[in-house]
Amino acid sequence: MPDYSTSLVWLRRDIRLDDNAALHAACQQSRRVICVFILDSDILQDLPRVDRRVEFILVALNEIAQQLACLGGQLLVRHGRAVQEIPRLAQQWQVDAVFANHDAEPQAISRDAQVARSLQEQGQTWHSFKDHVIYENAELLTQAGAAYSVFTPYKNAWLRRFLQDGALASLPAYAFAPKAGQCIKVDDSSVPILEEIGFQASNLRQLGIPLGRQGGLSLLDEFATRIARYQDARDFPARKGPSYLSVHLRFGTVSIRELVRMAWQQQTLAVESLGAQTWLSELIWREFYHMILSQFPHVVGHSFKPAYDAIVWESGTHAEELFAAWCAGQTGYPLVDAAMLQLNQTGYMHNRLRMVVASFLCKDLGLDWRWGERYFAQHLNDFDLAANNGGWQWAASTGCDAQPYFRIFNPITQSEKFDADGLFIRRYLPQLAQLSKADVHAPWRATAMALRMADVRLGENYPLPIVDHSVARERTLERYAVVKKVTA
Ligand code: FAD
Repeated sequence: MPDYSTSLVWLRRDIRLDDNAALHAACQQSRRVICVFILDSDILQDLPRVDRRVEFILVALNEIAQQLACLGGQLLVRHGRAVQEIPRLAQQWQVDAVFANHDAEPQAISRDAQVARSLQEQGQTWHSFKDHVIYENAELLTQAGAAYSVFTPYKNAWLRRFLQDGALASLPAYAFAPKAGQCIKVDDSSVPILEEIGFQASNLRQLGIPLGRQGGLSLLDEFATRIARYQDARDFPARKGPSYLSVHLRFGTVSIRELVRMAWQQQTLAVESLGAQTWLSELIWREFYHMILSQFPHVVGHSFKPAYDAIVWESGTHAEELFAAWCAGQTGYPLVDAAMLQLNQTGYMHNRLRMVVASFLCKDLGLDWRWGERYFAQHLNDFDLAANNGGWQWAASTGCDAQPYFRIFNPITQSEKFDADGLFIRRYLPQLAQLSKADVHAPWRATAMALRMADVRLGENYPLPIVDHSVARERTLERYAVVKKVTA
């Protein structure tokens, strides 16, 4: 093990000190450690000036800065291009090595390769570690040595490997335990405020989302008390079913090992079993999509199944109007609209609703899944390229292990099944609050009297449906027929 005098630890999608593989390794191998986070202008320049994610990051950075200050150290935060800033800081502070955790997104891979090259030219070493998933890239392969493209065999292989590796015993707990004086302070800078980096406050704090590492851990503790009911509650957006941990996983304010540990422990308690097993399975879906992105990078911008790139989506002014209505929650289908308002107002959308609105975009409006993928990327607090791309391609039937193209969600029956009393719809569409349970899912079917009594004026305070689902369904089957021709 090298014995470095000074190392730089570059935090990215792992904004925590505890259970951080790169930081742990740096502390093991270096006498002095400097932690740094770059507010990367290559990424920030494309974001809207009000973005909850930037605020989320700054809160988490401030928490770390305080923790490090208590140890006599410091979190260096710089605003600039990471490809320039990291080599520049490494030179300025004369470090021997830079430590970071893997980031498998294509742009991150090329950024890291560029940084590693610059460091090498300066005579400094680049070390990177697996941290964000349990099994990465090609660690799990089929017996034929190929990457998996179907989830269930992948999940079985994941679980088999996890047991072979010793299950919980195989999960390193990278405790943050620096020696006295190991975390150092190098200047008097502090974490910038939003305005200093060109952003303005969003409604993040009003939303009450638990923030920072403390917030992530409190959510995890709270979810552990209801994980047993996950299986029953997770599909109903009006219920508190899921964990709401996705944004913390995205930015690394919790570690995947902590989550897997909790789920595994709970599933061994017989009474808790099914909920915990199902939740663990969702964490494995996340790993599956990360593996897909790394092994099939063409999924960025293209269908996983190339034949599906032959589909001709709607285009032109009318398509753009349909898209604008979808984005604004103005389709006339209450569950779709309520879901889009949840996204626009909070940056979160329930998983069932992500499937419903994605299916609606592709199969009711006939619009290219990439349009929806891009909108989600801009607005989701938990936006993650691998999971978002996987989710969109699943819904559009263009992906690996996607739902078959002829399976077309009916937005009304989805609504009746998963929001039977219309509680979720009423929360985001108060103008429909007075409609009965029977009418709230499809107001245009209500009688004139029922609409008047509920003060719903279709076309005025709530839109008429912008498409007819049964007509759209037929068009979609025709649109996707091209796939059969291409593959025939
Ligand atoms: P929980 O139900 O508590 O699940 C726990 C964790 O498991 C999640 O935080 C997430 O990391 C993982 N997970 C759960 N479901 C999935 C899934 N289907 N695919 C991959 N990972 C999963 N998830 C993202 O993290 N970022 C995205 O950008 C994203 N975009 C999506 C787009 C579409 C069209 C669809 C259908 C799904 C998308 N998902 C995405 C997956 C899923 O909807 C979210 O992970 C989940 O809703 C987050 O809420 P939670 O943390 O409360 O989930």
